[in-house]
Amino acid sequence: MDFSQPIEIAKDIFWVGYVIPNDPFQCHVYLIKNGKESVLIDPGSMITFPVTMQKITSIMQLDDIKYIILHHQDPDIVGCVSTLETIMSRNDKVFVTHWRTQTLLKHYQWKTPFWLVDENDWKLTLDGGRELEFVFTPYAHFAGAFCTFDKETKTMFSSDIFGGLTDEFALYAKDIGYFESLKLFHIHYMPSKAILNHALLQIENKNPEMIAPQHGSIIKKELIKPIVDKMRKLNCGLYMLDEHESDIYLLNKTDELLKKFFEDLISLSSFDMILRNLFDYIKNDIKSLNKISVYKVDDIQEYEYYVVDSNQVLYRPEKQTNCKKEPLLIKVLEKDGCSIGKLNFYFDEIGEKELKLLNIFLNKIIVPFSLSFEKDINLKKLKDKSIKDPLTNLYNRNYMNDILSNKIQESIQNDFPLSIAMIDIDFFKKINDTYGHVYGDCVLKEVSMLIQNNIRETDIAIRYGGEEILIIMPFTNIQGIYLKMEKIREIIEKHSFCDEHNIKITVSIGVYQYKDEDIERLIDCVDKRLYEAKNSGRNRVVVN
Ligand code: GH3
Ligand code: MG
Ligand code: MG
Repeated sequence: MDFSQPIEIAKDIFWVGYVIPNDPFQCHVYLIKNGKESVLIDPGSMITFPVTMQKITSIMQLDDIKYIILHHQDPDIVGCVSTLETIMSRNDKVFVTHWRTQTLLKHYQWKTPFWLVDENDWKLTLDGGRELEFVFTPYAHFAGAFCTFDKETKTMFSSDIFGGLTDEFALYAKDIGYFESLKLFHIHYMPSKAILNHALLQIENKNPEMIAPQHGSIIKKELIKPIVDKMRKLNCGLYMLDEHESDIYLLNKTDELLKKFFEDLISLSSFDMILRNLFDYIKNDIKSLNKISVYKVDDIQEYEYYVVDSNQVLYRPEKQTNCKKEPLLIKVLEKDGCSIGKLNFYFDEIGEKELKLLNIFLNKIIVPFSLSFEKDINLKKLKDKSIKDPLTNLYNRNYMNDILSNKIQESIQNDFPLSIAMIDIDFFKKINDTYGHVYGDCVLKEVSMLIQNNIRETDIAIRYGGEEILIIMPFTNIQGIYLKMEKIREIIEKHSFCDEHNIKITVSIGVYQYKDEDIERLIDCVDKRLYEAKNSGRNRVVVN
């Protein structure tokens, strides 16, 4: 194909553009040859104009052109018009455009009048009966954007729609691969999926044989439908452009992440799920991501609050996972200028471009993410309040039934043993009577702490009554719980309570392994053993 010559793309329709060297953003000019009523479509800029002029005049007289269609007002369309106007001598020529475009173009103070498509029923009939129809495609990508359809050849001059960025100039799209050239351009320039879909529908309604866009490549009939099908699914309109970044690939990737994250933020009720998805989204683009941990910063300490990896989201992990490895990226979480935590990212390694992507993305989400994190902390605090006893910080009785039936269920399903213990302070009334209630409270608090520090993370301690504490131990048989309780009994016996007061106490404990009883009966069984411990002299653990 000789691009130095006009190329007839359909009957009496010529491509009269100029191939700009080394430019992925080519701009096409088309000419409809129709005697004294010929039509020039999107005449172009001063870069392309000299060659376009040569090509037009090699086919016809310049003044055969009566209609000059300006699909919108961008410089790559109208840049040459002031010059063109001075060269053409024909007085009855008109600029065909939409009123929204005219509103801007009038500032050029051209002498040629405007012929507005919206005032002419979106149709133009040329000498000899050739009909052009105008198709309104608002906001794709200008508010007054439209396309021109030649009914005779069924060619759609689609302006920016179907435009593409091509590494190498190709007048015709070779195969479906053209979609890749078109994709980034549309994501970048079309404001939204809905707007592009509206435009595509208007174009498809005309059933075009050929699409002749102003950029990229001409699309022949057989490729139109497969390309349109793919275009319909494009998430167009970059969401939050970065001030410093111009790499379309990076902007596009950031945009995908942002859309997904903000959708989650609106639709997901739990922070765990937001974190789960955040990890997966990032991992999808940055395969070397191993772990994200969310640190909570209190007045006095900072500690791992959540850990997410490919397998799970852990809330308040027992041990610091991977703690030997340094995070490759740390982001501070802030509320009202105060640090409330940090986000740590762990990778095997991370490339420069990937790090850039992650930084742009995180900088845009860090404020809403921090707020969501803070909300989660408050929710967890509130939940803790409703299920925890304020004096001892053990779970309260409200929580007992739920957690106990839960644990029973788990033990049945997995065939694990489950045991419980009831601990009661011996002669506690005397402590109150001797030292006063304040010291009684202090003893109670310290006993709870000693117990809490000597059971596993999976065990559960509940303040059952005044000075009675129920311990639930999953995965533990009767021997196991007996030995554990013996140890706790001993620790308490040896401990001096309330600092300088050196208060000494003992506890009595009943233990029982779950068989198949209901909760009430289960408590009854362990209570009986506690009673037995009291009756047989206190300061002991009773099994049977
Ligand atoms: P026993 O060895 O038989 O268990 O004797 P006891 O004195 O510990 O038993 P009793 O059930 O007669 O008394 C329990 C006491 O615990 C009564 C109550 O004043 C006290 N108590 C319950 N809750 C609290 C609390 O929150 N703070 C304080 N300081 N005392 C409490
Ligand atoms: Mg007691
Ligand atoms: Mg008691």
